[in-house]
Parts: sequence; C-alpha cells; structure tokens
Amino acid sequence: MSKLFVDQNSYVLKTGQPLIQVEHLSRVIQTRAQKTTILQNITFAVPAQSLFAINGPSGSGKSTVLNMLTGIDRPSSGRIIFAGEELRKMGENGLARWRGQQVGIVFQFFQLVPTLTALENVLLALELGGGGGLKRRQWRERAMRCLALAEVQERANRLPGALSGGEQQRVAIARALANNPPVIIADEPTGNLDSYTAGQVFDTLAGLTAQGKTVIYVTHDPRLAARASARIELLDGQIIHHEGADAIVTARQPSMEVL
Ligand code: ADP
Ligand code: MG
Repeated sequence: MSKLFVDQNSYVLKTGQPLIQVEHLSRVIQTRAQKTTILQNITFAVPAQSLFAINGPSGSGKSTVLNMLTGIDRPSSGRIIFAGEELRKMGENGLARWRGQQVGIVFQFFQLVPTLTALENVLLALELGGGGGLKRRQWRERAMRCLALAEVQERANRLPGALSGGEQQRVAIARALANNPPVIIADEPTGNLDSYTAGQVFDTLAGLTAQGKTVIYVTHDPRLAARASARIELLDGQIIHHEGADAIVTARQPSMEVL
C-alpha cells in the first residue's frame, strides 16, 4: 500500500509545550481619524490535538484571532509561537509556505470553486500547497482519501452546485486536509447549515482530532461550543473566560447584578 500521508508536517513538542502559544497579542487598526483596538493583550495556548473553541458575540474579535493564527493578519504587538517557531520571524514567503503546509482552513460559506468537481477542488489544493509531500501520480488517491475522511467520497465527481450545503462543507473539509496539515481552522463552519446537518458536519470535524489534528473553531451554537476540549471566550477583544487554554483573563464578564 502506498503511503498517502507523509509525515512532512510533523512537529516535535517539548513535554507540556502547547502546539500554539499566543502571547500578549494585540491588533490595533489606525486610520487618520481614529485608532480602533480590535484585540487587547490576548494570551492563551492551544494544546496539541485539542478540539479548541473560540466563543464570543459578534464583533468580539474571533475572526481576527483566527486570521492571526493563520498568519493572514499581522499582530500589532505580541507574538504567536507554533511548535516553538515564531510566526513573525518567517517573512512573507516563509509564512505563505508555512500556511500551505501546516494549516487547513474551512470557511462558513464553503468557498469551493464552482466549475470544479469535488475531487478537482481537493486536487487544486494539492497543486497550490505543493502536493503534501507526494508524487503527482499519488494525488488522486490522496484526494479520494481526504474525501473519504470527510465522508463525502461518493460525491467526488459532482460539481458543488449539485451538492447539499452539508456535502459542500464536507468537500471543503476534504480540501483543508489535502496537504495533511496538523491544524484545521474553521470560522463558523456550520453557521450556514441547518442544525441537524450542522451537528453531523461538526462530528466529522471533531473526529479529525482522532487523526492527530488540532481543530480550532468558532461557533455560535452553544451545543457545538460545549463539545470543545479547551476554549477561550472573548468580549470586546479581551478574554473573559477560558477552559484548559492556559489563558490570562484580562476582562471580567459584565455581571447582570451590577446595573
Ligand atoms: P467576530 O469574528 O467575533 O465577529 P471580528 O474579529 O470580525 O469579530 O471583528 C472584531 C471587531 O473588529 C469588529 O468590531 C469589527 O468591526 C472590527 N474590525 C475587524 N477588522 C477590521 C478592520 N480591518 N478595520 C476596522 N475594524 C475591523
Ligand atoms: Mg467572525
């Protein structure tokens, strides 16, 4: 049997070291007219192979945190350390390569290429990500394996428009797995699905931790938020609560009694 998941992206952690360490992270947007603080001095850790939730109301900074974890947005201050390596020291090219190999991203609105079949969408991710350490002739088999992991392999040859929402998100999960990244980041991945389908798709995402993946997700659904093995809760760009995330709580939850 050919080896379809080459350990090109394996990391070595020291005992007790989290996979991702976020230290005193701030994001400030400065325009001519005003300065807006979106994240204020956030410190937390993501344990390896955890199912890690980021909770909080709309506008609290959840997407901003995810965009900094993927290196899409740069922090104004503070740092992010991934398996002992500091993201901001990588440079633009290094960061793009790092993202392609280490992180798979799942979006709320799927973002599949509508003119490509499910299988071709996954193959495209392999093309863009450098093939996940495989020879080109192995790509199709790998892509099918990813579709199987996302439990949508029987839809491989369909275009996204011929798939249900849940199936489209499963294809997007397969695409995120293409280059065998250790981390899957999902911003409201079930936000566009009915609650039954949301639960099923979430089960598939959560199940990836059994494959050694670390899954970081944002959700508004309290049921799905409760499934996390570790989490932080944000309010106005600060952490107000955490479980198992070694976070520094910098703001207190507003109390209903103090009015
Ligand atoms: P969430 O994902 O929790 O809804 P976001 O991280 O998207 O929150 O945004 C947090 C806050 O920062 C919001 O008030 C949003 O309007 C603001 N924000 C995000 N990005 C920018 C930007 N590029 N410029 C100005 N404000 C922004
Ligand atoms: Mg958001």
